[in-house]
Amino acid sequence: NGFIKLGLAPELIRAVEELNFTQPTPVQQQVIPQALPSDDEAAGFTDLMVSAQTGSGKTAAFLLPVLHTLLKQQADAETKSRLEFERLTAEALAKGEPAPKRPKRLDPTSSRNFKAATPGALILCPTRELAQQVASDAIDLVRHCRGLRIASVVGGMPYQLQLARLQNADLVVATPGRLLDLQRSSQLKLDKVQFLVVDEGDRMLDLGFADDLAEVNQLTIERKQTMMFSATFAPRIQQLAARVMREPRKVQI
Ligand code: AMP
Repeated sequence: NGFIKLGLAPELIRAVEELNFTQPTPVQQQVIPQALPSDDEAAGFTDLMVSAQTGSGKTAAFLLPVLHTLLKQQADAETKSRLEFERLTAEALAKGEPAPKRPKRLDPTSSRNFKAATPGALILCPTRELAQQVASDAIDLVRHCRGLRIASVVGGMPYQLQLARLQNADLVVATPGRLLDLQRSSQLKLDKVQFLVVDEGDRMLDLGFADDLAEVNQLTIERKQTMMFSATFAPRIQQLAARVMREPRKVQI
């Protein structure tokens, strides 16, 4: 399978194989290695400005590297908390004290345990249909990633249903309007977003989302990486890119 060379996690390779993706498409071939963190940790992540059409495989091109890094961070955090638990247990035993209990998981469906959602990745789409398609693709790709959760936030869908899924989401796919509604009502906090993807940037501007994008840019200003996908590199897209990205590398398919 041609995806193995790209350095993706085995859980993601397995999903890709089950979806019968045997070779990465050109946009995937270009974007995935550039979007993954460089070996030089300090250099970190690169912002990307990609021109790609629908049907090119662009969705997996941005989802796979983002999911790969979220997965890796989750595994690192689990290892750290397991080691800490083992250390505390050994310490207690040495002192003849009772072993510590594992922390309980809170029931997220109970309103007593309400907390704002704090996703690590945010994908912005211009329309509800596109957002739902991207969320569905993401769910397909995380089928073997235990604990990575996807939620979509789009206008015109029942609020309660979305909120229940949203609370523990690691990756949120959203249209800008509903996203900012939830942010303003404190259901959702965007300050933990590390990865921001703007899909179909040209349609975002056509549909009048420039101000919303500027607001999301400010709310996620601490993020590590931004990718923007657009059918064209028209001047107005370049202006938008200059506002939301830091020295983006251009990928033209
Ligand atoms: P997109 O351009 O993201 O809308 O993708 C177009 C279609 O191509 C979707 O139905 C994907 O499931 C499919 N696809 C994406 N990547 C691959 C691949 N590497 N091999 C085969 N099909 C793919």
